[in-house]
Amino acid sequence: MFGFDLPDEITDAQKLTRDFVANELRPAEAEIDTISDPAEAYTSGKFKEILARSYEMGLHKLTVPEEEGGLGLPPFASYVILEELAAGGGGLASHLLVAPIGHFVIQMFGLAARHPRYKEYAEAFVEDAQGIHSGCWAITEPQVGSDIFTFGEKDIHFRTKASHEEAGSGVTVQRAEGGGFLVNGAKSAFVSNGWYADFILLMAAADADSDMSGTGVFLIPGDLDGISRGRPLDKLGLRALNQAEIYFDDVWVPDEMCIVPAGPMYRTLLEFIVTTGNTSVGLLAVGVARAAFEEALTHAKARAQGGRAIFEHQLVQMKLFDASRRLEASRLMLWKSAWLLTQGRPDLRLAFEARTMASEAVMQITSEMIQVFGGYGISKEYPVEKFYRDAKLLSIMDGTLDRVALSAAERL
Ligand SMILES: Cc1cc2nc3c(=O)[nH]c(=O)nc-3n(C[C@H](O)[C@H](O)[C@H](O)COP(=O)(O)OP(=O)(O)OC[C@H]3O[C@@H](n4cnc5c(N)ncnc54)[C@H](O)[C@@H]3O)c2cc1C
Repeated sequence: MFGFDLPDEITDAQKLTRDFVANELRPAEAEIDTISDPAEAYTSGKFKEILARSYEMGLHKLTVPEEEGGLGLPPFASYVILEELAAGGGGLASHLLVAPIGHFVIQMFGLAARHPRYKEYAEAFVEDAQGIHSGCWAITEPQVGSDIFTFGEKDIHFRTKASHEEAGSGVTVQRAEGGGFLVNGAKSAFVSNGWYADFILLMAAADADSDMSGTGVFLIPGDLDGISRGRPLDKLGLRALNQAEIYFDDVWVPDEMCIVPAGPMYRTLLEFIVTTGNTSVGLLAVGVARAAFEEALTHAKARAQGGRAIFEHQLVQMKLFDASRRLEASRLMLWKSAWLLTQGRPDLRLAFEARTMASEAVMQITSEMIQVFGGYGISKEYPVEKFYRDAKLLSIMDGTLDRVALSAAERL
């Protein structure tokens, strides 16, 4: 059957989220955005309170199956709800998007039986009603940004190394508990939830003589000896999202925590993560853009100039029309990409095409909606200036617009 009607269980969850967003998440995000010191923001009562409320509602476990303690919603629901969350606050929506990554990997690779820390974490994550547990994806490095997509160049690989040998000694790392890796290096200040996360999905060079295919993937608790964090990043937008460097100083990681060893499987996993990530970042963009559009539409109908509502001026109407069609087009492309993901048929090129449409749309729309507000648009008294700041980050997160577009073009 072909159709665009969402099942009742998804529309019910969408409505519930919309109410929560309007009454709680949006005001909280706006307040956190105004705290100038990020460390203060992420230790504030408001931040803890809104995370606790979000977790209490189960918004951290939208991708968890019911039998594992999830909400029992169809997998597509998580994408629909993500747009709703982002319409209230792109920063907190990003936090909630990234939070389940550790649990997701444990479930996807059936890791609960492999190491006691995995079982313990999976249970604690689904039961969390206080916003304590969250994961992060640590891939970008100071010297490796867009190059995560560059394969086949011998000298391009991660500087963070996961070595089976004691640094410089040539002695294989063997402890009472068994074999393992020694991890040394640093991930960039951009790691989402990097300051807060208690479980880390880490990409590191396990075969340093190889190109990017020499990357190994590790899922590790954030409290292992030798792991430390930088200060949370002070930044332009999405200020409710904590981002920070993660340092690895002789961190001993048992062999069981290597999820994918160096080799061809790495690229397959990376492409799957990036397909999901870009589809999700696109929906964050749609949410932020929709919020700006809705604010501007309301304002245009209320504000009068030239003896009538500014909405009656055709040039203003055209700006709103343009926003509406960009939103609709972006959402439809993203829904197709999301639907394919739920069918087990990820389409990387489509995800990149859809995400670039949405990232361009959010920058265009938030800019034009400020224009509709006139001078009021740049004032912090109104929400549109924040949407404009948030929009820029959504053109860099999970791959810059240009790099992602080039990757899509190569696949034509
Ligand atoms: C909000 C946000 C959240 C993020 N979350 C995470 C996270 O959870 N985990 C994580 O590890 N990282 C995260 N990142 C990092 C993000 O993935 C990188 O910032 C991004 O991939 C770009 O890398 P870079 O910043 O090093 O820029 P660079 O790679 O240095 O790019 C700089 C410029 O050069 C251009 N460029 C680079 N290579 C090419 C090329 N081959 N051809 C043409 N142009 C090129 C780019 O388009 C860009 O304009 C996040 C970033 C943001 C903004």
